[in-house]
Amino acid sequence: MTGFDLKGRVAFVTGGNGGIGLGIAKGLAAAGATVVIAGRNKAKAQAALSDLRALGAKADFAELDVLKEASCRQAIDHAAGQFGRLDILVNNAGTTVRKQPQDLTVADWHLVMDTNLTSAFVCSQAAYPHMLKAGGGKIINIGSMMSIFASAYAAPYAASKGGIVQMAKSMAVAWAKDNIQVNCILPGWIDTDLTRSAREQVPGLNERVLSRTPAQRWGAPEDFAGIAVFLAAPASDFITGTAIPVDGGFSVQT
Ligand code: NDP
Repeated sequence: MTGFDLKGRVAFVTGGNGGIGLGIAKGLAAAGATVVIAGRNKAKAQAALSDLRALGAKADFAELDVLKEASCRQAIDHAAGQFGRLDILVNNAGTTVRKQPQDLTVADWHLVMDTNLTSAFVCSQAAYPHMLKAGGGKIINIGSMMSIFASAYAAPYAASKGGIVQMAKSMAVAWAKDNIQVNCILPGWIDTDLTRSAREQVPGLNERVLSRTPAQRWGAPEDFAGIAVFLAAPASDFITGTAIPVDGGFSVQT
């Protein structure tokens, strides 16, 4: 199992204080990594830290607003300084504004694009020198089914999630020589704060998701632990520039 061992590795997970990010952080922690969860909500982070420490992991919280470039750079530099290295970056922080294209403001557009895409660019760039120093690294970006499909209510979200896959491919090509692998995970419909409000507001959404998903259930944050460990570990050293759906079969159903 040494190919899946993360002992001695340090991971930074944006939005790791809840939802899919926390599912990933728990997986990395259970595999032996030191995990820094980063976000805005301190109360959520305290609960998340207890969960991570209960797994026997070293874990800390970094206050981070991904909409601010300086905040991204400072939080990543601080984490690398605090733990002596940085090996794994998970660009997971995300948001959406559910409106049809004609109703979106430019501010809506920037909120979604900057949270989901620009932040991943800035954090990856900030992590790069630390990964070079460590002799390599792993960057895992969280895309979406909207990296592949479309929705009338998701123009900036789909643009950001399509963009994050293309950005990952470019970084994968540029940084392969540095032993840095850059991959994406594309979640299907997952039960988190992000989708809970949609499930409450959009009539029939729950039934549509269940009937369109071959696994016949919503995903859970814990469904992301295994893929994250794989993409963060030596087992995936020859895999870069890919986008892997974790969707209970949603993307292959006609
Ligand atoms: P959550 O709302 O539970 O998590 C989103 C996380 O992003 C929160 O922890 C939040 O932290 C963080 N975040 C948002 N804005 C900022 C910001 N400005 N600065 C710092 N952190 C920020 O939703 P999910 O777990 O579902 O989403 C995680 C990722 O998965 C997102 O990228 C989302 O697009 C993607 N995804 C989710 C799907 C689903 O069905 N749930 C499907 C496909 C993709 P805080 O609360 O501290 O602000």
